[in-house]
Amino acid sequence: MDFVFMIPNTEEELKTQLSEPGSFLMTGGTDLLVKVRIGKIKPKRVVSTIRIPTLHFLKDKIDEIVIGATITYSELMDFKPLIKNFPLLYDAIYTVGSPQIRNRGTLVGNVVNASPAGDGLLALYLLNAKIEISDGSVVPVEEFVTGPGQTALPSGEYVRAIHIPKYDWSVHYFEKVGQRNSMTISIASVGWLIRCKNRIIDEFRIAYGSVAPTVLRLRDVEEFAKGKHIDEDFTHSISKMVEERVHPIDDVRGSAKYRKILCANLVYRMIEEGTKC
Ligand SMILES: Cc1cc2nc3c(=O)[nH]c(=O)nc-3n(C[C@H](O)[C@H](O)[C@H](O)COP(=O)(O)OP(=O)(O)OC[C@H]3O[C@@H](n4cnc5c(N)ncnc54)[C@H](O)[C@@H]3O)c2cc1C
Repeated sequence: MDFVFMIPNTEEELKTQLSEPGSFLMTGGTDLLVKVRIGKIKPKRVVSTIRIPTLHFLKDKIDEIVIGATITYSELMDFKPLIKNFPLLYDAIYTVGSPQIRNRGTLVGNVVNASPAGDGLLALYLLNAKIEISDGSVVPVEEFVTGPGQTALPSGEYVRAIHIPKYDWSVHYFEKVGQRNSMTISIASVGWLIRCKNRIIDEFRIAYGSVAPTVLRLRDVEEFAKGKHIDEDFTHSISKMVEERVHPIDDVRGSAKYRKILCANLVYRMIEEGTKC
């Protein structure tokens, strides 16, 4: 576990240090250091972002919020516009690890780690978030994540921020099913956003975690839901569609069969949620 630890003070220094072969970027280190410890990666140098002031910011704009790369989950949860405009994201990150993990870990780290079980990532898929890269490009999160643990981040570049557009939703829902209530990796997770009136759906988004190589947005289910009345027949149809579309694997946390049934059953929470329309 021999590596040099670098702490640049500016983005310019960060770029220079990242260009050295064998360099790995670290923010909170809650994913990276675990991988170093188990020998999954063997860095020559670890370059920390945490002392760079231009990456540490939160902006509440008219049409979006912008979350700087080094903002921790705990800082984000204290950010009032987040609770007001993005309660789904708040609920999702509230389930991440423990207070200690949330004091170190970041949403940007969750995105670049690109785990299909990433709780923050699932919310960002639902919210159509965009990832701002240091080369100036801004990429939808669904295009940024290309596979399990894989992203479209160009070599030598880093993520500067996450942009989340504001939108009025009537209902938000996030649920993570694990082997225990806290400090758990999900067996499956689900989130949805509904814009509706008198139980009739105007707009709908739904995504699942831990049941495919990446977080899974079910776009055809979203289309099907438009104009429908939220009742038992509707949730039954959605539930069947979900069961056909998720493709989980067997692992230590749960079998593929169990996960499929779980995903289908989670949809029935919508009946109660529909009363908020
Ligand atoms: C005990 C424990 C419990 C956990 N529980 C959960 C949980 O419930 N839900 C969940 O989703 N996750 C969980 N995690 C995983 C982890 O905490 C999160 O994924 C966290 O968001 C990672 O953020 P970080 O800042 O620590 O990332 P880091 O570990 O610093 O980095 C993660 C990856 O992102 C890269 N990276 C970091 N910053 C940047 C940047 N600015 N630009 C480009 N690349 C960057 C790193 O090189 C690395 O590949 C848990 C981890 C632990 C150890």
